[in-house]
Amino acid sequence: MKLGIIGTGYVGLVSGVCFAENGNDVICMDVDEKKIEKLKTGDPVIYEPQLAELLTKNIEEGRVTFSTSLKDVVQQSDVIFLCLPTPPFEDGSVDLTRVLDVSQKMAKYINGYKVIVSKSTVPVGTCAKIKQIISKGTKKKFDVVSNPEFLKEGAAVSDFMSPDRVVVGTGSAKAGEIMRELYSSFMRVSERFILMDERSSELTKYAANSMLALRISFMNELANLSERVKADIHMVRVGVGSDPRIGNSFLFPGIGYGGSCFPKDVKGLIKTAEEYEYDFKILKTIDEINIKQKTILVDKLLKHFKGNIKGKIFTVWGLSYKPRTDDLREAPSLTIIERLLNAGAKVNACDPAANENFKLLYGNKFKGVKLFKDNYSALKNSDGLILVTEWTEFRRIDIDKMKKLMKTKVVFDGRNIYNPKLLKAAGFKYYGIGR
Ligand code: NAD
Repeated sequence: MKLGIIGTGYVGLVSGVCFAENGNDVICMDVDEKKIEKLKTGDPVIYEPQLAELLTKNIEEGRVTFSTSLKDVVQQSDVIFLCLPTPPFEDGSVDLTRVLDVSQKMAKYINGYKVIVSKSTVPVGTCAKIKQIISKGTKKKFDVVSNPEFLKEGAAVSDFMSPDRVVVGTGSAKAGEIMRELYSSFMRVSERFILMDERSSELTKYAANSMLALRISFMNELANLSERVKADIHMVRVGVGSDPRIGNSFLFPGIGYGGSCFPKDVKGLIKTAEEYEYDFKILKTIDEINIKQKTILVDKLLKHFKGNIKGKIFTVWGLSYKPRTDDLREAPSLTIIERLLNAGAKVNACDPAANENFKLLYGNKFKGVKLFKDNYSALKNSDGLILVTEWTEFRRIDIDKMKKLMKTKVVFDGRNIYNPKLLKAAGFKYYGIGR
């Protein structure tokens, strides 16, 4: 099929390249000219495992091309995916400006039947709005389809190539069949194509992310209680997760969820509920717990140093909001670093993929942060290690090396990845979450 992608970011680029890999002709469009120039050379711009190799391969084999022209992408494609940002406004409601602007602009280029697909996460009723806007600008036939994306950053390519499910919302039998055909090559082993109406599909995406956020916030609350009652959340998690009705995934306590999706989608769903005059209490609580949880590690650190950390050096391992991505959106590291700097401390930081992004986006704001390529170099003369993101690189530690490098032997483990007994035996003070 001839496919167009509008917005070539984490979702757009991965979708475009994976569709191309499965034999489709894909044209990816973005307003960011520099990004498009880099993409043409095979530089994926973002860090995502397997993406660079697939991108280069599909450029070389001529299945994926890049453009800044909205006209080209609309006219040369039969199915057009909107993969545009839908960030939150200050009050938590969803900013649909880009999605609705592009919809209005693309109408005049429609030169035959098109399926226009919202892959962006959008509130219930947005596909209907897109349809209305495009109808005003064209007499040609088209359908608007909701197809929320469920890929996870850090495993985006494998998630896209072998999806757990593909949710498609449309009232059009023709568009539904085109979407089924398009995705059939991604589900040869078993059918995971779920067809529904647009509004249910739009809500499904918010429901899934909110449910996952709920599990995390629940476990974080349980961890905080666990500490107070002197239980070990690690054992509680194992005990609880072994019930097949509950399952083991998404039960890890930590320092709050981040990223471009969970925080904004929980807030977005709260806003939708408010619009329909429904008081969705549990959602508000999930969000409140998460905001509080992002501060918990620095609270422990301040208590340890009796409130005085002026002039001390702390080492932050991990800046991205989770391992295997360079994405810093809503990352707990930002809250932690801001508080440390505000209290007069200095920060040495190291991330396997996000150092460059950090320099670019926060270099000016967080001037007191020194970035290191090597995580041990960042520990020299340190008054404490703060483990923020559980990259594999940080899981195995050389305790003897740490002892020699660090000035103060204390570890604040935001992801419970270290063995407290080993650290304590080596003379370290250890703080985890809920243990
Ligand atoms: P992103 O910021 O990585 O990418 C968006 C791209 O759109 C950028 O390259 C930007 O330059 C481009 N863009 C902005 N305005 C444009 C315009 N007018 N015309 C053309 N291009 C334009 O965003 P993302 O993380 O890929 O998210 C996109 C959507 O997918 C959001 O709604 C998000 O909630 C949803 N989503 C994201 C993820 C994820 O893990 N990142 C997962 C599922 C769903």
